[in-house]
Formats: sequence, structure tokens, C-alpha cells
Amino acid sequence: MANLEANRWFTEISDRDGSAFSLRVKRKLDEKQSPFQLVEMFETTDFGNLMIIDGCTMVSTRENFFYHEMMSHPALFSHPAPKNVVIIGGGDCGTLREVLKHPGVETVTQIDIDEVVTEMSLKYFPELCESNNDPRATVMFDDGIKYMKEAAPESIDVVIVDGTDPVGPGEGLFNHAFYKSCLAALRPGGIMIQQSESPLMHMPLLCEMRDAMLEVGFADLITMPFPQPIYPSGLWSATMARKGEAFNGFREAEVNAATFQTEYYNSGIHKGALATPNFMKRAFEKK
Ligand code: SAM
Repeated sequence: MANLEANRWFTEISDRDGSAFSLRVKRKLDEKQSPFQLVEMFETTDFGNLMIIDGCTMVSTRENFFYHEMMSHPALFSHPAPKNVVIIGGGDCGTLREVLKHPGVETVTQIDIDEVVTEMSLKYFPELCESNNDPRATVMFDDGIKYMKEAAPESIDVVIVDGTDPVGPGEGLFNHAFYKSCLAALRPGGIMIQQSESPLMHMPLLCEMRDAMLEVGFADLITMPFPQPIYPSGLWSATMARKGEAFNGFREAEVNAATFQTEYYNSGIHKGALATPNFMKRAFEKK
């Protein structure tokens, strides 16, 4: 249960990080215990609506663009011609909306384990769900681990893992078996991208993820740090892994010519995200 204090602040206490983060709220909008997790919604005074899953901040109206744009555009523009995209998790549908901005994408299948997340998003973040009826989109509710295990070999260009932290239903999205399934389902040159937690707070986990991706056979990795104001430390990351070949830049001219609107992502941001801060470089090089 979220900690809504008497003075109307929602506080996420992050015990594992020794930190806490608060947003001032006007009222609680909704709450539903699904078979998988507790989903709560608040109206805040300054960040719009706020979704909480099992006590952890997930999405707010005001700042979700950082996360959703960085989970989609860098991977899609790093691939020469992505046509078939799969999103594991992503039930708020913000990543789905960003992927569908790419005119070359022919199919996007989103598999979130929890229908309640999408129900809540349709109600409280309708702008994130505005592309759900795009004929290229399929929105399914199932276990993403099982879906990737059963996916046809070499059938997907980009897999986006927009999941929760490695606890509860999201735990199995962070291990060798899952990465192996993703690798097998990707076409040669295909890209997997996964939210990889805070480089400041969760470096051991980030290193374990990177090691596991290489150990199952991905050829190359890029971890991109980006701002994430409502998650522990405010600094988050996404890790891209490529099948069969090294990353080879991105379609910069097409980013500059893109006709769709973004709030954060552009070619300069993409280039900046490819630069690894020294504390991260040292951690990645240490074995
Ligand atoms: N997109 C959010 C944001 O803006 O920060 C945070 C991610 S939230 C959408 C993560 C989603 O992963 C949740 O909806 C959760 O139900 C889903 N999830 C967790 N484990 C899963 C699994 N095994 N298969 C599919 N979806 C899963």
C-alpha cells in the first residue's frame, strides 16, 4: 500500500537504496489489486496523474516522455529497417505509442502480464493509449517470458523489455533463459532493449544484466543513461543488445528528417546517450 501521509504527500520509500521520493497529491483516484500486483492511481498537484505498482512509482503525466522515448527511438533508429517489434511489459502503452510513430514499422505486439495496468492507463493516461487502435498494433495480456520462449525463431527485429523491477512478475525478465529466448527470436542484426535500472543505485544488477546478455551470445551492448525524475536517484538507463553484429551508429539523417514530434529525443540526445560516464565505464570494465 502506498504511503499517503496526512499532509497529502505520496512517498516511495526505497529501502534497497536508502532513499525516498515524494510527490504532493490532491487525491487518490483508484486502486486495484490484480492477481499480480497492486496498482494505484493518484492525482498530483504538479505532475498530473501518477501510477504506482506495488508501492513503486511507474508513470506520471508530466515526465513519462523521458522513459518512453528512450525505450523506443534509440533502438528503432539503430536498426537499419525495423518492421516487426515486440514490447514485453509496457502496459501503460506509452512505449507502444512511440514505436507506432515510426512509419516503417509494420507490426507491434505488446505483451503485458497485467490487464489492470492497461485498464488504468486507458482511464487515467488516455494520451499514452491514443495509438492502441492503430491497425499495426496488437495488445495482449500474457506472461512475456512465456511469449518470448514460444516466439518463432528469427521473426522479430526489435524486442523492447519495458518491465518492472526484478521482483514479482518482472523477476524472470532479468536472466539468461529470457535473454536466450530474445536472442533466438530476433533476426540477424536485431536489437533487444531493456530498462536497466539506475546506474547510480543498481550498478551490480546492471553489470549482471550486461554480462548475461553477452554470455547468451549477443554481439554488442550499449547502456544509455537518461533522466528519470520519479525513479530512485533520478538517473535511469536502458541497455541495447545486438544480435550477430556490433552497433554501427544510427540513422541520424532520418532522425533529423522525422516528421513526428518528441519531447526529449533528437539526434543530439541520441549521440549524448551513447557517451558512457566514467563511473559507468569503470564498472563495466571491472571484472
Ligand atoms: N513504462 C513505465 C514507465 O513509464 O516508467 C514503467 C514500466 S511498467 C509499464 C512495467 C510493466 O511490466 C507492468 O505493466 C507489469 O505488469 C509488466 N510486467 C512485469 N512482469 C511481466 C512479465 N513477466 N510479462 C509481461 N509483463 C510484465
